[in-house]
Amino acid sequence: MEENKEEVVSKNFIEQEIDKDLAEGVYDHVQTRFPPEPNGYLHIGHAKSILLNYGLAQKYGGKFNLRFDDTNPTKEKTEFVESIMEDVKWLGAEFDDRLFFASNYFQEMYDCAILLIKKGKAFVCDLTAEEIREYRGDFKTPGKESPYRNRSVEENLKLFEEMKEGKYQDGEKVLRAKIDMASPNINMRDPVIYRVARMTHHNTGDQWCIYPMYDFAHPIEDAIEHITHSICTLEFEDHRPLYDWVVEECEFVHPPRQIEFAKLYLTNVITGKRYIKKLVEDGIVDGWDDPRLVSIAALRRRGYTPESLRMFVDLVGVSKANSSVDYAMLEYCIREDLKLKKPRMMAILDPIKLVIDNYPEDTIEYLDVANNLENPELGERKVPFGKELYIEREDFMEEPIKKYFRLFPGNEVRLMNAYFVTCTSCEKDEDGNVTVVHCTYDPETKSGSGFEGRKVKGTIHWVASSTAVQAECRLYENIVDEEKGKLNEDGSLNLNPNSLVILKNCYVEPGLVGSKAYDSFQFVRNGFFCVDCKDSRPEQLVFNRIVSLKSSFKITK
Ligand code: ATP
Ligand code: MG
Repeated sequence: MEENKEEVVSKNFIEQEIDKDLAEGVYDHVQTRFPPEPNGYLHIGHAKSILLNYGLAQKYGGKFNLRFDDTNPTKEKTEFVESIMEDVKWLGAEFDDRLFFASNYFQEMYDCAILLIKKGKAFVCDLTAEEIREYRGDFKTPGKESPYRNRSVEENLKLFEEMKEGKYQDGEKVLRAKIDMASPNINMRDPVIYRVARMTHHNTGDQWCIYPMYDFAHPIEDAIEHITHSICTLEFEDHRPLYDWVVEECEFVHPPRQIEFAKLYLTNVITGKRYIKKLVEDGIVDGWDDPRLVSIAALRRRGYTPESLRMFVDLVGVSKANSSVDYAMLEYCIREDLKLKKPRMMAILDPIKLVIDNYPEDTIEYLDVANNLENPELGERKVPFGKELYIEREDFMEEPIKKYFRLFPGNEVRLMNAYFVTCTSCEKDEDGNVTVVHCTYDPETKSGSGFEGRKVKGTIHWVASSTAVQAECRLYENIVDEEKGKLNEDGSLNLNPNSLVILKNCYVEPGLVGSKAYDSFQFVRNGFFCVDCKDSRPEQLVFNRIVSLKSSFKITK
């Protein structure tokens, strides 16, 4: 396989191939599919495959199928079928009534096997799995032919029928394609195409005790559905000659064509189902949709939108060379998507009280605040203001460091959307921790009043304590330790102990009451947040931080 080739093929190399096929009359339409195996939840890599296949169908006025590749009964679960359908729909990849299950083609696959046997292109082999491996040879050594290779068509038909009838134990006999044991491509050295396996299938139950192998089943599935361009990832490049062989020898009138592209890898995240499964089973994460994962369900729960994932997939493009994409690029996309769409609210994550000593007692003033200064269409809201506020603990320093422009005794700052206040003093508990900050305000300086008397360097946000709503905020970092790499020496995952920080004592504006699962907002200065779909309740809101506001990541075009 030619990985890590320096070559970066243009974004449209698949489209160029399709254009050529259409121009040469190889096909007169485009039909694509996404063929997940229902053995886990989909992740960001699958999103790329889904959007690529769906996007091509759309671009060429063709159709897109969702097909479950459920030919391998051991690991498959109905739970996964349901989650996959939900994810594909959520991404906006419409498959309408074109939902298929490969297991519904078992009869056709069996018929194809019979056809191959009749043509002298397949034989029943009694070698054990280990012997088959030995006979296969390797890159340097040609393979050796099986002693069962020259069985007669009649004998093969009889034995294969007996395999199907359950006469043989698992592994006792297999059906193999008769191709070429000397082929430089090991996949062509008489590959196994059917095995005996007594397993109950989620769709066909115990109807079958023989199951087709992936390399045989997949081209047949594509051909049955009249797929034109069967897009898959690079590891199948060496399997393409076998794909073509199956399509040709099984005499399909609508031969599909396989095109490979590089898998999407992201830095510092876990995409392998094997690892995610382990994190779920070990209780390290809260299920497949834990917001620290990059399963589609997790990204949705975290607050990512289908639009942001589409933008991401477009930015990444399609390539023939394997590479890793910076996770920061995904964050860039969600920021871009939400920036103008979401109201900018005030929420205090680490509260400390601020008392305005010269502000009247028991007064609530409703200030007019623009929801998003960059997008007037989002309108305005009223935000209550009063004598006692919560501010962020880090916005006060009794003894300021250099270039600290926020609150410290004697300094004046702007309370965002409200007044200028000057810090006068603070109260402390017996351990010396600051408990309350005192200040005075200047009524002349009200935001929007046109006051131009003087300028201040710092602006801080706040919420009025008498109307504030207590909420929980969850902050996330990558689940693996970025600095040290993904895996420890023993192969275990190198987990980041700070991947989840739960802040239970946050205060948000009363305007956030009534927000529902998946609603998202910008909390000024703190990032974009999304209402958690599992744990948030009307009386106890829980927000996930989708992403912070700042990044050094830049798109260079
Ligand atoms: P994993 O290795 O994560 O378990 P998989 O390849 O086994 O994934 P499938 O359900 O077999 O998962 O994949 C369905 C489709 O998604 C296939 O066409 C596969 O090529 C594609 N796909 C899987 N992972 C990626 C990825 N990282 N980037 C792009 N496409 C992917
Ligand atoms: Mg797979």
